[in-house]
Amino acid sequence: MNAGMDIGLIGGAATLRALTGLLRGIDGLRASPLGDLASALRALPAISCDLLLVEATDPAETAYAELALLAPGAAWVALDPSDDPQRTAAWIEAGASACLALPGADSLQLQHAMAQAMAVHASHAALRRRHDDLRGVFERAPLPMWVYDLATLRFLAVNDAALETYGYSRAAFLALTLYDIRPAEDHAALRQHLQALPPGPVDAGLWRHRAADGRLLNVEISSQPLHFAGRSARLVLARDVTAQRRAMHSLEASERRFRDLFEQSLGLICTHDLDGLLLSVNPAAANALGYRVADLVGQSMYNVIPPSLHAHFREYLQRIARQEADSGLFYVLHRDGEQRIWEYNNRVLQDEAGNRFVMGHALDVTEYRVYEHRLRQQQAELEAVNDGSPLGLFRADPQGRYTYVNRAFERMTGLRSDEALGQGWLRALHADDRDRVAAQWREAVAARTRFQSRHRYRPDTGQTVWVSLQAAPLVVEGEITGYAGSIEDVTARHMVEEQLRRNEQRLRTIADALPAMIAYVDAAQRFQFVNSAYEHTYGGGRGRIVGRHARSVLGDAAYQRRLPFIEAGLRGQHVVFEDEEERDGGYTCLQITYIPQWDDDGRQVLGLHVMAQDITRQKIEERRWIQAAERDSLTGLTNRAGFLVRLERALARSRDQRSLLVVMYLDIDRFKQINDSHGHAVGDAVLKTFAQRLLAVLRPSDVVCRLGGDEFTIIIEGMRRPQYASAAAAKIVAAMRKPFLLPNDLTLAVSTSVGVAVTMNEADLSPAQLLERADAALYEAKSAGRDGYRVRGAAAA
Ligand code: GH3
Ligand code: MG
Repeated sequence: MNAGMDIGLIGGAATLRALTGLLRGIDGLRASPLGDLASALRALPAISCDLLLVEATDPAETAYAELALLAPGAAWVALDPSDDPQRTAAWIEAGASACLALPGADSLQLQHAMAQAMAVHASHAALRRRHDDLRGVFERAPLPMWVYDLATLRFLAVNDAALETYGYSRAAFLALTLYDIRPAEDHAALRQHLQALPPGPVDAGLWRHRAADGRLLNVEISSQPLHFAGRSARLVLARDVTAQRRAMHSLEASERRFRDLFEQSLGLICTHDLDGLLLSVNPAAANALGYRVADLVGQSMYNVIPPSLHAHFREYLQRIARQEADSGLFYVLHRDGEQRIWEYNNRVLQDEAGNRFVMGHALDVTEYRVYEHRLRQQQAELEAVNDGSPLGLFRADPQGRYTYVNRAFERMTGLRSDEALGQGWLRALHADDRDRVAAQWREAVAARTRFQSRHRYRPDTGQTVWVSLQAAPLVVEGEITGYAGSIEDVTARHMVEEQLRRNEQRLRTIADALPAMIAYVDAAQRFQFVNSAYEHTYGGGRGRIVGRHARSVLGDAAYQRRLPFIEAGLRGQHVVFEDEEERDGGYTCLQITYIPQWDDDGRQVLGLHVMAQDITRQKIEERRWIQAAERDSLTGLTNRAGFLVRLERALARSRDQRSLLVVMYLDIDRFKQINDSHGHAVGDAVLKTFAQRLLAVLRPSDVVCRLGGDEFTIIIEGMRRPQYASAAAAKIVAAMRKPFLLPNDLTLAVSTSVGVAVTMNEADLSPAQLLERADAALYEAKSAGRDGYRVRGAAAA
């Protein structure tokens, strides 16, 4: 018995007196009478006791259960006035660690019962703590986990996170098989997967699961082989990637899940001589063996020891004769043949005559040994579950000190579990992360909140491991009893993210260095990316464009011009077009390309890659070349090539607008003679003057061309009546009749003939046919004596 033990005495006045008497013979105890049960329950929260001796009269009285709550650190001995072994079991059920029949008990028996109670209480408390730790990390791991039977595919165990994610009660889930949590159309794939399942750990990839309410979940599955509850099984970890939910907050009180199911009989007392002959047996002991007292007294103890253990019993007899005392475990035979385990504590005494005999006291510990065995077995299974998990799992006490880590945790951190406990887990953190993580963990524990962190482990190996850590407080009836958490190796994910970031950076550098404007616009026409050239043109400063709508960035006019192309791009077309703009007297032209960005399935356009190149300089150059190519160098008028282009456009417009189109074909009369009499230079001067007079007579919108030689053409659009064509021709003819004043005071009389072609609503008429019509009219005018005009077409005007 420990010296300095505090013992609380509970019971009526007579019992307390009796107990005080019995305890007087035992050294090193501090006994405090606490009164009857009701007053003791009031006093207990304020005092600390190692052991309670409790007068125990009625096992059905529920107040006894409160002893364990109010004094969880104390074992208690039920002092029962009866000898009934049935009641002993009831007292154990009620929370007592030992039981003693008080009437007639001596100090030795009481001392023995107290030692027994202390041992049982300590051993159970330790086991229960360990068991809760192990069960806690499986059941409260933040990710759904379960164990299923490989033969039947039925679930054998499931954790809280899985129940929450899938929406089943534990009982309902444990009645299901793997197929029941998958949509029917995936059953064939599952069958194939299971047939090909290798015996080792497997990352089974992405699956669709069905929750109790029919919701489909996308989950990432990994599994491990496992021996569980005596069956070949697999431990499965399912990460719900649909909602990325964490199920850490659902903590059900499970602290009291384990009931004391065992039964034991206390206070089995007998005496025997040094040859093993039974001298006396108390009723409890006789009853425990299935006999009456009279059946046993005078019998050899060999009769109640299994024959296979007779040699051991002989050794016991020799030992106790030599050492005066012995304790340990022994198997005894019940009358019905069943073996029971007795834990005995025997010593040699002398009777008045000086004969030595053995005084034996034993407890039947069969059930509690079986219970302990079962607890150990469950503990081993849970350890296997936790160690099989690919997640690093840990438990911490309410102050944040780690009390348990599993194998995966050791693997990831490179720490042995004893090194990781307490605050040791911080040691293997990367030096750059350690202070931050330690401070955040302290804050989370102080604020009693959840904790998340991403940090590095194992800097020493050169193979840094990135882990994502999550922890949540375990709350039982409003009290934080500790923390359960996990670490996951996210090195690969981290590397990919880093790589992406670097790639993005590199691409941005390249994009910014390009002279072209580059941008990305999403389907809602909002800018998601622009390079610096784009920003320079439209933005006026970095970061001003991203997030804005195209209309606000481009301005209304430009947006309206580009909208049809943007829409075509968003319908999936690869679009290239030129966007010209005359603004503030300046002219700009962009060549713009829209390349659609499809989604992974190629079904939907997510946005447009925009590339715009300023081609203003090229366009201006091109215009100059075109103008040069279409100009007659002598008169400055449009030449034949230019005339043909314009005639074609004018004819198309007149057809579209159902408007009148007039083409005139002019030829100077007897021009050869001018050349012949005055020379080629005078001829050229006449041509120039002729051209100026044409421009002066006509409107700026009319097109005047020199086809070559002394032949000219005129295109007049938008004339309201055909008759006006004749008037215009008459005006031209009249204008040329005035004398031509030429260099060197030369004055010449010149005339011209004009062929007028008019057209309207002639669907099949080609430009060549229209020009032929004018030529034919000219021929008529020449034939008619020159210095006049003729009209053809549109009912001959
Ligand atoms: P008609 O009344 O039948 O038109 O008689 P015409 O003498 O004017 O005959 P035609 O129109 O066939 O003659 C055109 C002349 O124009 C022929 C050519 O010598 C002259 N010519 C052609 N190109 C040029 C030029 O660039 N400069 C000058 N000075 N004369 C040209
Ligand atoms: Mg001529």
